[in-house]
Amino acid sequence: MSRILIIEDELPMRTALTDCLTAEGYRVLTAADGPAGLDRALAEKPDLILLDVMLPRLDGYALCAELRRLGHSVPILLLTAKGQVDDRVTGLDAGADDYLVKPFSTDELLARVRALLRRVRRTERSTATLRLGDVTVDLARQTAHRGRQLLHLTAKEFAMLRLLADSPGEPITRERFLDAVWGYAAFPTTRTVDNHIATLRAKLEPDPDQPCWIITVHGIGYRLDLPGEPAESLPDIAKP
Ligand code: CA
Repeated sequence: MSRILIIEDELPMRTALTDCLTAEGYRVLTAADGPAGLDRALAEKPDLILLDVMLPRLDGYALCAELRRLGHSVPILLLTAKGQVDDRVTGLDAGADDYLVKPFSTDELLARVRALLRRVRRTERSTATLRLGDVTVDLARQTAHRGRQLLHLTAKEFAMLRLLADSPGEPITRERFLDAVWGYAAFPTTRTVDNHIATLRAKLEPDPDQPCWIITVHGIGYRLDLPGEPAESLPDIAKP
């Protein structure tokens, strides 16, 4: 269950947000001014912060900037009042991830919340360690081992693996591999993708001819099947 911290000084707004998010199954924490909000954010490490801009004693921008300065990467959704035209830029400069202009609909709020939480889950997954049978891949450090034996993967192979690991269970097209791994400047063919998948399988799969992790999706591309990854936990249909 995701924990959401609401930092908002106006009681009716705070209550409405709390009711709306609680009804969706989120666990809600609240704070009524800037310093209290900063304290709660640091102490309780919520999964997401809804942050009002106009707050007593420490405004939303300053709070946001302070959290980022302290190295906290928690997603922050800024709530700004209508007419404050520079809010968006100032907020994003301060390190906010997204913003909503009051008044906003419940549907819009919930959609933004879901999108931000999903983005975090993806990032966590892509920086995580992949365990494929007896092979361990550290995507952040770009190292791979089978047991204690170091496996030599190229930078492109790591990049392909990272793309696959961002959306386990979902097919990745050859074109997306080319865009993400080779970039627009290069002109490899889709055959290049297949060749790199073949070498990746040779290094990682127990039986490269009958792959169990890097699966061919006919007519589309490839997908990564993680052990013990049930279909219900796929990012796009993830529940809070
Ligand atoms: Ca306010």
